Amino acid sequence: MNFLNLLAAIILAIAVAGCGKQESTEAKTAETQKASTVATAIENPAADEAALQVQGDYMRGIVAEISDDRYEGRGPGTRGDEMARRYLAEQMAALGLEPGAEDGSWEQYFDLVGINATQPESWTFSGPEASLTLKQWDQFIVGSGVQRERATVKDAEVVFVGYGMQAPEYDWDDYKGADLTGKVLLMMNNDPDWDPELFAGETRLWYGRWDYKYLSAARQGAAGAIIIHTAPSAGYPFQVVQTSWTGVQFELPAGDEPRNEINAWVTEDAARQLVAAAGLELDALREAASNRDFKPVPLGIKTSLEMNVDIQRAQSANVLGLIPGSDPDLSDEVVVYTAHHDHLGVGTPNDDGDAIYNGAKDNATGVAITLAIARAIKALPTTPRRSVLVALVGAEEQGLLGSEYYAANPTFAPGKIAANINYDNPNVLGRSHDISFVGLGKSSIDRFLLQAAARQGRVIEPDQFPDKGHFYRSDQFNFAKIGVPAMYLKPGTNFIDRPPEWGRQKQDQYYAVDYHQPSDEYDPSWNFDGTVEDALLGYWTGLAIANADEMPVWNPGDEFEAARLDALEALTE
Ligand SMILES: [Zn+2]
Repeated sequence: MNFLNLLAAIILAIAVAGCGKQESTEAKTAETQKASTVATAIENPAADEAALQVQGDYMRGIVAEISDDRYEGRGPGTRGDEMARRYLAEQMAALGLEPGAEDGSWEQYFDLVGINATQPESWTFSGPEASLTLKQWDQFIVGSGVQRERATVKDAEVVFVGYGMQAPEYDWDDYKGADLTGKVLLMMNNDPDWDPELFAGETRLWYGRWDYKYLSAARQGAAGAIIIHTAPSAGYPFQVVQTSWTGVQFELPAGDEPRNEINAWVTEDAARQLVAAAGLELDALREAASNRDFKPVPLGIKTSLEMNVDIQRAQSANVLGLIPGSDPDLSDEVVVYTAHHDHLGVGTPNDDGDAIYNGAKDNATGVAITLAIARAIKALPTTPRRSVLVALVGAEEQGLLGSEYYAANPTFAPGKIAANINYDNPNVLGRSHDISFVGLGKSSIDRFLLQAAARQGRVIEPDQFPDKGHFYRSDQFNFAKIGVPAMYLKPGTNFIDRPPEWGRQKQDQYYAVDYHQPSDEYDPSWNFDGTVEDALLGYWTGLAIANADEMPVWNPGDEFEAARLDALEALTE
């Protein structure tokens, strides 16, 4: 979290609250102050009445259903996935939503390609003076960047490219126009974190994520990319790279976009040896790469690599339900609520012999929240001015693939999507004083959310783990990439009537024991009181956005502002 952005958000919130107060002729009691901070667009008793439709028992029913063993963990392309999609479409129909897919159906189908590369046991790099052979698993992990039966790099030169970033808004370009066609690019992870004015300081931006790095190399026409792993720059140990980059990797079918043949990781020690084989020092190269005037450094080392790749195909779908807007001038614009309906399916059994990864909290509960919000919106006497789309997206756990497909094939033009509000792995522990907004300080959504939070007397906290890049790890990211201002709430930690440390301990325990495990199962003892409050934050925020005169905007200079301007520009063409 950039402190200045946070400060700006707070000042904005105070300013917005202040405007409301001036309009109020009542005495400034706590109650009227609360009411006056609400945008007039949502200040009506009917919206309060409709909000009562966000009910814990309604959400419970949905969570208990789709996290049942009968749904077999809702793995993309499986029978359980199909059953869940059918059930969710039925729920949408029962709420009175309209089918939201382009062909008038509930489901937007997409193909998945499963890629399983047979990694070579060793990888050799040859320089004029010395050569070096690295060992798979211990020193490197490599995946296929192509959806073909063979991935090949032949006699490609290795070039150190620093962070491998091109960011015009920070006047930063690591490539400086160098011809990198057919090269293998060796790059650092993360983005500069030592200066709050540069890449948002400690907050990891998309530039600091591996998916950006590989894409950035492919845009240069590179043959491959190698990311240098360090625990601080990745946010996790090399072991996570080893386990998550082996086995089948799912993607959407390749289009005509540029692709690397291979995408690799090496340990820091292996990178040090590789650079030493070129007669250079890794620390000196990294030091040089911390400056804007850095230029790519060819290492004078060549490498070849060939892998057999097994390709599988499957199909899943996003389930889309629409509530058309009531204002003829604005109903072609939309607020999109998302939650992923998939989970990990059937996999390795745990110690109890349970092999079904039910995904009850992650993310049957997020799905239930968005349907509860839709239920409340449908209970309004007049629907909001803009349309509302509930998009229950698939294949999130495989790399945000359903939302990626939606973003590439949106049912509303990107410049007409006012905002995205996403729920993933929400709170089931009861009411909390706080809630965490991943992305606070990035857009004018802050002002709508802060108003909604004020109604509940709750505090909005910035992401508690800014270096983890949470904004880029759930479905809202794909909306942000096409320019849509987005909101992603994570549970609070300060729970009502609990000791201060309780919430964090419970969360740590969940991540240590149940996260992405067969034990993420529905428990009737779950407390949905806080889930209702978190859903209402999304309800009020979405309602305010759907009824406002103007759509939200990214804060000036934000990493996604340029994409939004492009999307708005495209509307006029
Ligand atoms: Zn999730």
